[in-house]
Amino acid sequence: PALDLEALTRGLNPGQREAVFHDDGPALVLAGAGSGKTRVLTTRIARLIGDRGVAPHEILSVTFTNKAAGEMRARIAKFLGHEPKGMWCGTFHALGARMLRGVAPIVGREQNFTIYDEDDTIGAVKRVMERRKLSPTQFAPKAILSAISSAKNALVSPSEYARTARDTFTTAVAGVYTDLEHALQQANAVTFDDLLVLPVRALEQDEALRAHYQRRFKYVLVDEYQDTNAAQFRFVQLMGGGYRNVMVVGDDDQSIYGWRGADIRNILDFERAFPGARIVRLEENYRSTPNILALANAVIAENTERRGKTLRATRPAGETVTLVETLDERDEADFIADTITARMSRSDLSRRDCAVLYRTNAQSRAIEDSFRRRNIPYRLVGAVRFYDRREIRDIMAYLKLVANPADDEAFRRAVNVPKRGLGDATITLLVERAQREGVPLLTIASRIDVVAELRPAARTALADFVSLVQRLRTAAVDSAVDELLRDLAASIKYADHLRAEGPEGQERIENVRELIAGAAEVVADEGGEVGLTPLDHFLQSSTLVAGIDKLDPNADAVTCMTMHNAKGLEFPLVFVSGLEDGLFPLARAAEDPSQLEEERRLFYVGITRAETKLYLTCAEQRRRNGEMMFSMPSRFLKQVTISLAERQKTARAKTEGRGGFASIGGTQSSRDSDDSWGRSSYSAGGGGAKRPASQYGSASYGAGSTAFGKSAGSFSTPARRDRPTEPEDESQDAPLFAVGEKVRHAKFGSGTIAELTGSGRDLKVRIDFEDEEIGRKTLVLAQAKLER
Ligand code: ATP
Ligand code: MG
Repeated sequence: PALDLEALTRGLNPGQREAVFHDDGPALVLAGAGSGKTRVLTTRIARLIGDRGVAPHEILSVTFTNKAAGEMRARIAKFLGHEPKGMWCGTFHALGARMLRGVAPIVGREQNFTIYDEDDTIGAVKRVMERRKLSPTQFAPKAILSAISSAKNALVSPSEYARTARDTFTTAVAGVYTDLEHALQQANAVTFDDLLVLPVRALEQDEALRAHYQRRFKYVLVDEYQDTNAAQFRFVQLMGGGYRNVMVVGDDDQSIYGWRGADIRNILDFERAFPGARIVRLEENYRSTPNILALANAVIAENTERRGKTLRATRPAGETVTLVETLDERDEADFIADTITARMSRSDLSRRDCAVLYRTNAQSRAIEDSFRRRNIPYRLVGAVRFYDRREIRDIMAYLKLVANPADDEAFRRAVNVPKRGLGDATITLLVERAQREGVPLLTIASRIDVVAELRPAARTALADFVSLVQRLRTAAVDSAVDELLRDLAASIKYADHLRAEGPEGQERIENVRELIAGAAEVVADEGGEVGLTPLDHFLQSSTLVAGIDKLDPNADAVTCMTMHNAKGLEFPLVFVSGLEDGLFPLARAAEDPSQLEEERRLFYVGITRAETKLYLTCAEQRRRNGEMMFSMPSRFLKQVTISLAERQKTARAKTEGRGGFASIGGTQSSRDSDDSWGRSSYSAGGGGAKRPASQYGSASYGAGSTAFGKSAGSFSTPARRDRPTEPEDESQDAPLFAVGEKVRHAKFGSGTIAELTGSGRDLKVRIDFEDEEIGRKTLVLAQAKLER
């Protein structure tokens, strides 16, 4: 064997060794950030294949991103000197999709099924709601979908859900859930959640199938185990249930997907599902300097819902962590950009060594602007995802329809791209007929008896569309996807239509070009397991590509991404930005202690990405949707945190700032050590600026004990320094609402207050409505007639 076992395991500590040399039986590796969990998994796989003679196809390895899977594969290949061909390695969703291609008939699908993304799924939910005469104002489709999604991830079937439905909402959900399943089946489509749920169901129902996989996969390994949900856990249990050689690695302190149904109890359940599991703890951190680690440990120690563990630094002491106060988001971005430039000029740091992390994608905008002005190449992970762009979605709708003529969502989208003058009446007619006869829209659209009922113009337009799709279907059998795309774009004169949209159209044209170029790289299935066309492949991979997966590690660019996307990664230089209350932690977490703990774990994840130097940045004021708002420092920046960092202030913060952050960690009395320094220091030092309006809820400024008080949002105070001419009048009779509060609007349904601006009769409220179609709206409070 080519494997040099000594070289492979050199330098491993005893705990790591124990895990790597663990042979058979279940095992659980529980350890903090940067302790080598991922490395242990990779090394163990290499050893199993290279030393124990386990065949790659007998190994199933689950990673958190497709990118991590690619890296794992590459590492193992390097150790072995050859590719681990046949090994299943990928995310739960990718593995589920792969399995489902082979077993689709068991769950009522055909092999060429479509994967609906969130938009497609919302569309399908709305359609079902229409049929059930459920008003989207009474029940937000997004809220219904989210309930269905939670049910699916908890493996609750429609009938089980219906049995436990009590109130009007859950009863509505139960009905939609049942119908949605039929609609999906009829459209030969699956949702993202189904990629997990359906394989689980297939494995549970079909004993032969289960036996097949349980015999095949002798070893099952799972990374980032703390973020698995019930369906994923069941998947692991089923796949690994034969040999029981299941090794999972995770860190309860890095569980950040609770909102997606991930359940920390899975760690406890593991020991129940696999009794006698060997437990391995790793206590040495190899990633970060002691200063960074001390800060991380101090932050996470604030949490109560944790097992607690030791994490010791192994690296020599390095630089101190720096906490930087900046004036506003531009100043913050400029500071980050300038610091990167300066550090690169005096060390061998390269851009790819730098990462800027934030809580919300919207924060990237200022950072991007600053990088662009300075010509600093950067890459944005996961923001407006390429495949979410309108022009791409339009084209993809065609491709989906070509691949799967039963995909009615794709039909609806594609049929009017470009506008063909097919109005609602036409579509409604088609939909009614399709439903009555239980056939797809495309089938109905090509039926002579149906189209005869249409106006001549609509008839011609529809005929053109149908014949285009049919022609592409024929072409798709053996054409390369890029050729198919070029053909499509030319046929619908797409570039002309986009160009007509003005300057923005040009960018869209570029995006379509990029799509075509990317499609040229799609290659045929490696194993040729199931006879998929190039198009099927392309669709499958593009639907699964998300966020971090598009990150090219070889490009020399600074990485910008949310902390959620940063999981598992490491960078020598890291900025954790936007440390302000209401932003990080988010306002909506302020009221719920367990959400607040999740936000803190996210902070811990952010901090522990840093290897050598960490900056924490906050801004005294921040523009949100065009309006400047004063901020308060994040409640995560407690006294102890501050004492582990050195403080710095940008020039602009010094000269133009109000000093609102002046007392960060400094003059705070220990009396209110339970409160965040920022909140009380802010109320103490107002810097002379006006602090308007009690209607924003005084709790947000109080140094009192309401640490989770309602209006903890820092964005509740408009920054008025810029607008000295505004009347000082603060109307007393405005209703009392606070940022973060849940409200109902008669027409738009329920939502959460994101922002309050203006004053008196002009007091405006910005609300994030739960219904995605409505989204974020700004209303004049006096007229909005909001209910709590
Ligand atoms: P996270 O919880 O963030 O996912 P992790 O526990 O998976 O972290 P790894 O990413 O596997 O940690 O390892 C962190 C870093 O430490 C990597 O650069 C890895 O190569 C290095 N490392 C791990 N073990 C050792 C060791 N025994 N000696 C030297 N370096 C090590
Ligand atoms: Mg890891």
